[in-house]
Amino acid sequence: MVEDDPISAIISTQALSDTYVTHHVTNGQAAVDFCESTPPDIVLMDINMPGMSGLEACSILKRNLITKDIPVVFITAESDPQSEDKCWDAGCVDFISKPFSIKTLRHRINAISSVKILTDELMRLATTDGLTNIKNRRFFDSTILEQSKLAARNKTPLGLLLIDIDYFKSYNDTYGHFKGDECLKVVAQALTKVTHRPTDCVARYGGEEFVIVLPNTDAKGVKHVGEHLIEVIQELNIAHLGSPFKKLTVSIGGAIVEQDSLDIEKLIEQADKQLYLAKQNGRDRFLMA
Ligand code: GH3
Ligand code: MG
Ligand code: MG
Repeated sequence: MVEDDPISAIISTQALSDTYVTHHVTNGQAAVDFCESTPPDIVLMDINMPGMSGLEACSILKRNLITKDIPVVFITAESDPQSEDKCWDAGCVDFISKPFSIKTLRHRINAISSVKILTDELMRLATTDGLTNIKNRRFFDSTILEQSKLAARNKTPLGLLLIDIDYFKSYNDTYGHFKGDECLKVVAQALTKVTHRPTDCVARYGGEEFVIVLPNTDAKGVKHVGEHLIEVIQELNIAHLGSPFKKLTVSIGGAIVEQDSLDIEKLIEQADKQLYLAKQNGRDRFLMA
């Protein structure tokens, strides 16, 4: 809730706080800061406030990758057509004219939050791998595109790791497909634990192959994560009698795209080549060009 008038803020808070967790800020800039650090499900925004106006704050939220999908509802005292158009142009989902009935406020917010919750769940399902619960190939494809553009714009390096479980066909043959599935889940969790930055992305690339995108990470960093991962999987100590190592291992190929290049295909190709060489050189290892 973004509202500079204390009385209005109390009225809206009372109307909504039995169903929603509310948080109140008093100007546009505070709203932008709050949404970036703790994205809420809905923003209820006053228009006229000291400092940054509600319209300006809404426009900023809509241009930011992190906040662009948060629905903004204006509460406005101005009900002429031009003012309404300004709200739509700023990117709101709806507006409520003052004075409003408490019932109207509740119903509007309920309707908007239902759509928001459903959309979030659909997005989650569409981008999650059903077996391992980590991100799926579709998510990886869009992330790598986004991150490579960001890397080129910010002139930062972008790292990539391709991870393939060793002798996994033999694991299935020895322990059965059910155990094989369980093993994929454990490896996926282990990969996720090792990557700490919020922008790092671990995804299932397909079958027993995983991929990790490491934005703003140089060759030294990619090597560090790759080598650490080899150890982490070894330390899981998953018995694998069908493997010459007698436990589960992975091979990893690493690659990095230096500034200014947008060539994702080449990046994946390079990592894949290193992965192939890691397999050829005896598996259970990390290689990078
Ligand atoms: P390498 O050491 O050269 O990587 O050999 P590999 O046996 O791991 O590789 P290969 O590509 O020959 O076989 C991959 C196997 O991964 C085939 C399939 O049985 C298994 N696999 C792929 N997806 C799944 C899955 O979703 N569940 C299970 N249980 N197994 C899977
Ligand atoms: Mg494979
Ligand atoms: Mg394999």
